[in-house]
Amino acid sequence: MAQIIMLESIKSLARQYAADIVQTRRHLHAHPELSFHERNTARFVADQLKAIGITPQEGVADTGLVAIIEGKTGNGSLSTSKVVGLRADMDALPIHEANNVPYKSTVDGVMHACGHDAHTASLLGVARILHVLRDQFDGTVKLVFQPGEEKAPGGASLMIKEGVLENPAPVSMLGQHVAPNIPVGKIGFREGMYMASTDELYLTVRGKGGHAAMPDNLVDPVLIASHIIVALQQVISRNRPPASPSVLSFGRFIADGVTNVIPNEVNIEGTFRCMNEEWRAEGKRRMVKLAEGIAEAMGGSCEFRIVHGYPYLKNHPELTRRVRAQAVEYMGAENVVDLDLWMAGEDFAFYSQVVDSCFYRLGTRNEARGIVSGVHTPTFDIDEAALETGAGLMSWLAVQELQLM
Ligand SMILES: [Zn+2]
Ligand SMILES: [Zn+2]
Repeated sequence: MAQIIMLESIKSLARQYAADIVQTRRHLHAHPELSFHERNTARFVADQLKAIGITPQEGVADTGLVAIIEGKTGNGSLSTSKVVGLRADMDALPIHEANNVPYKSTVDGVMHACGHDAHTASLLGVARILHVLRDQFDGTVKLVFQPGEEKAPGGASLMIKEGVLENPAPVSMLGQHVAPNIPVGKIGFREGMYMASTDELYLTVRGKGGHAAMPDNLVDPVLIASHIIVALQQVISRNRPPASPSVLSFGRFIADGVTNVIPNEVNIEGTFRCMNEEWRAEGKRRMVKLAEGIAEAMGGSCEFRIVHGYPYLKNHPELTRRVRAQAVEYMGAENVVDLDLWMAGEDFAFYSQVVDSCFYRLGTRNEARGIVSGVHTPTFDIDEAALETGAGLMSWLAVQELQLM
């Protein structure tokens, strides 16, 4: 019975605040800031929290914030054993907005094209809802407003270093992300591995350039680099554990010679993505060895630089099952969908490597209104009806998790 009252209370507050959450999202959308430069955004979030009656800890990882909501049905002191963490990212992308909407970005070349404005607005909505209901649940809700999701080393990794997962330590972390491929009104979950680790590969293959008519006097880096590109794919096909999804793609191969000039070097750039941390390390080790060995055997050299990115994102199976069941309670079974693996990266993965975590997706697509563009495109937008769900559902999931701790 109490649960039904809680469910109805949350739904009704989410409905009541929906228009404000839309306004918050529009303000953030119109004033985007790049990764690790979220100064005005952080100030705005802090002001909003203070207006609700919550004093946040500011300046975590420079532009991040952490706020605590204490449930009051317990013994009156801060619960450190029942803690759920809720995360929103706040940064925008270096994209020039092409949408003609009243809340269009006011900053040339910067745009909330990944929906982080919606995540931040939703979490502020959660703050408002749970602050009102704090007398009706037991436990602690930790709100994490995070900078720099889009840029290495990832704001999540910096916030973890600065202790966001301690004092009090969340027992579980929840995060949501807009999904332009899922209709508004629906929500998506996936247990276990969900998103990929991301590592950037930079290869410089060196030989000895010269007149293309006399290759016998040269060391041809174009041919060496070609062998390396083909051979590296064999690391994926022959050494990858078959149950581990992996992608190796090269998008840049620059041999800057001409018809009759062989260059001195070739520059290659690519990305390696997978969903298994042991294989991730092993795959990189094998690729470096193979590339260096091929270059050396052919008389040249290969300098192989790797920028290590985010780990893979794993959704804790039991947590995800519980949260999914609670989403069914809130949304109805017909509105809860299963997600496919996605080889994109997401720095929420850092939390998922440390604490039981669930990262789920909020449907924002509306075909009838032409809201279909993918994230990271200049025409990306969301159906703002998703924001009521974004705030309400997350509030409900947090309270239900605390109940079970
Ligand atoms: Zn993004
Ligand atoms: Zn994103």
